[in-house]
Amino acid sequence: MSLSIEALRMAPADLPATLREVVEYRKSGLSLNHVVGCPLDCAYCIRHVFDNYDMKRPHLVMDDEAAVAALTTHWAFRPHRTPIQIFNRATDPFLPRVKEHLHRTLELLDGQGLTNPVLVISRWRVDREDVKRMERLTSLKLTVLVTWSGIDDDRIEPIDGAVAEKSLATLATDAVRTKRILYWRPIIAGINDCDDVIGRARELARLADATVFTGLFHRDQIRAHMRSIGVPDLYDSAPRRKIMPRLVERNILDGFGDQPIFRKTSCAVAFAHGIADYNGHLGIESICDICPKRQVDICAAAHAEPSRERIAALAREAGLATGTIEIANGRILVDDSTEQQRYFIQHATGFQVHDRSHPHLPGRHGRAEEGWE
Ligand code: SF4
Repeated sequence: MSLSIEALRMAPADLPATLREVVEYRKSGLSLNHVVGCPLDCAYCIRHVFDNYDMKRPHLVMDDEAAVAALTTHWAFRPHRTPIQIFNRATDPFLPRVKEHLHRTLELLDGQGLTNPVLVISRWRVDREDVKRMERLTSLKLTVLVTWSGIDDDRIEPIDGAVAEKSLATLATDAVRTKRILYWRPIIAGINDCDDVIGRARELARLADATVFTGLFHRDQIRAHMRSIGVPDLYDSAPRRKIMPRLVERNILDGFGDQPIFRKTSCAVAFAHGIADYNGHLGIESICDICPKRQVDICAAAHAEPSRERIAALAREAGLATGTIEIANGRILVDDSTEQQRYFIQHATGFQVHDRSHPHLPGRHGRAEEGWE
């Protein structure tokens, strides 16, 4: 597939309000999305949920300077601490024309001397010029996550996986301070979990600083789109969390043997940079059982229970009621919270924050029920 994209137009006035908000707090940090629209047509795209899947041409919501100002003046932004993601909601950051905005945004942040972790996720072409430009950054902890699935059904994923494989190889050859992750997703039972795909993932993992494997968001809107293009239902349920059946996980872990692989994106980022996991997964049962000992030691050294006063102050800052907050079993428990409130406290403390209404079940690693009953 070759793409030619003309200079980006401004987004139309009827862009949904959620997409006009260019800064959003997500589990991987503050997400900056001032370009929306993507021609790559992955059937499982999260844009179905934002009602933006039909916008194939990327559009600019605001210029890079205004977007960076919106990010760094956001109430939840902490210099040198808050993880940042750029263009991870509604476009691919390395598309032609879009990548100009990616590079400019990175340079504006780096120019402020910020050392925050920055995640950039792409399945498109990362070429040598891109790597050279990213390598000139001096302060941001930059990670490029190369999305690759091993799916060979063009209805589900029209982009040839060879594009991502080449991007990973280019990064492996030319990147030093820019870390690279093989982002193996979405893994779907019966579609891309066979031994051949696991074997190919193992080969590709050797090009990466770290590898993450993760499942499918099988939301109602995504299931409806799959049906509309003739793909039979991939799972029975359409839950809020990603689906990663127990047996699929077991086969992947057996296939990788002693080659490092991570369940959580932030754990792979931590390993790649030699820092502690900013999501504090260390407190959660059996997340760390597949993690190399040297990384467990780094996380353990940084994992300290925050004081009640500190948590209460952060909760007040996030507008969260403090009356029922408690610390138990390596996590902070809260009620009636939004994701934004929980992740703000989690990233500020390096300690997991869970809402009692969404309990994390032992060994499930925050995933959906399907495949674990
Ligand atoms: S030790 Fe645990 S929390 Fe830290 S990176 Fe490894 S798996 Fe993640």
